Amino acid sequence: MSYLRMENLDLAAKRVLIREDLNVPVSAGRVTSDARIRAALPTIRTALEMGAAVMIMSHLGRPVEGEYDPQFSLQPVADRLGELLGRNVRLQKDWLDGVDVAPGDVVLCENVRFNPGEKANDETLARTMAGLCDIFVMDAFGTAHRAQASTEGITWHAPVACAGPLLAGELDALAKGLRDPARPMLAIVGGSKVSTKLTVLDTLLDKVDELIVGGGIANTFIAASGHNVGTSLYEPDLIHDAQLLIQKAHAGGGAIPIPKDVIVAKAFSDDAEPLVRKVNEVADDEMILDIGPLTAIEYSEIIAGAGTIIWNGPVGVFEFRNFADGTRAMAEAIERSSAYSIAGGGDTLAAIDQFGVTEDISYISTGGGAFLEFVEGKTLPAVAALEAVANR
Ligand code: ADP
Ligand code: MG
Repeated sequence: MSYLRMENLDLAAKRVLIREDLNVPVSAGRVTSDARIRAALPTIRTALEMGAAVMIMSHLGRPVEGEYDPQFSLQPVADRLGELLGRNVRLQKDWLDGVDVAPGDVVLCENVRFNPGEKANDETLARTMAGLCDIFVMDAFGTAHRAQASTEGITWHAPVACAGPLLAGELDALAKGLRDPARPMLAIVGGSKVSTKLTVLDTLLDKVDELIVGGGIANTFIAASGHNVGTSLYEPDLIHDAQLLIQKAHAGGGAIPIPKDVIVAKAFSDDAEPLVRKVNEVADDEMILDIGPLTAIEYSEIIAGAGTIIWNGPVGVFEFRNFADGTRAMAEAIERSSAYSIAGGGDTLAAIDQFGVTEDISYISTGGGAFLEFVEGKTLPAVAALEAVANR
């Protein structure tokens, strides 16, 4: 199934309502990281150049639904967007009754989450939003895994609904990496919890040739292999599941490698003394905060041999300088590799930024949860709706 694409439609003099993910960090009324706004710029510029009357919707933070709260106002986003576009961007506080916008102009609609029924995907709200436009453009990949009024419900009622270039670009890049991957295909899944990523690991094992686990996830696998993990972050309840995954990997002729060595500390802090331990020599009062140097070399070699790399989740507490080396080694190995590489996830992107390898990742996904759901093989609800209306 396929969906309509904004670039293929005639937007001239049309009222075009674009859903973006402009949920950026704001401090003291200023946007502190505008990456998501910049990611949306090509879509907005294209619509304006095509002569559309452009209305933009987004959420910001988690306000109490139905209550205006200046803390969650999109005004700082309107200001920054205006600077980037080189034109005034008007923020409209109450917009469900109608938006006054001329072709070639752009209006930002105040936080969609101020509207009761947004999260519950209320049909009346979705119809009201749809009534504002001739064409609805879904461009918010980062929220495409949520079926809400402004991401999914509206699609069913808008006269025309299509994918914007940012959303379509994400889907194309992820599909390229996942459906027709150069082999061997490697997934690196790190971060803090097995529980939230366990279904991903299970599905990934069916798709990839190699799987490297890191971070708190690796700690659970280390424990599942019978080693002491001391006071490490890990999930004892999931040891059995980890064992099943190890067995599944073996049955498929592969393996989930367990780190040979790790970096431990006696406390979870920036200045804790880092100590290298063999994986079977972790003491009761020590916690694993990174992979060790031998393991970093071994994993770097696996990365060097991969044709496709999927990366979500740091392999250590990279925010602490003493425990950042493992994640840095992964980032630099991906930097050196000529494989097609895709990375996604909030903290993963922070790590990529920190280690200065942004330019060397083939594709950086703006989505965290949406990226993982796509990797799992799930159809994102907002995309499913776009496909359904395009084919009805
Ligand atoms: P992402 O946001 O990229 O999806 P996660 O949110 O799952 O990644 O995990 C990132 C967090 O995992 C980081 O804050 C990092 O400090 C933490 N982490 C990584 N390794 C460990 C570890 N060994 N012990 C505790 N926390 C860890
Ligand atoms: Mg995170």
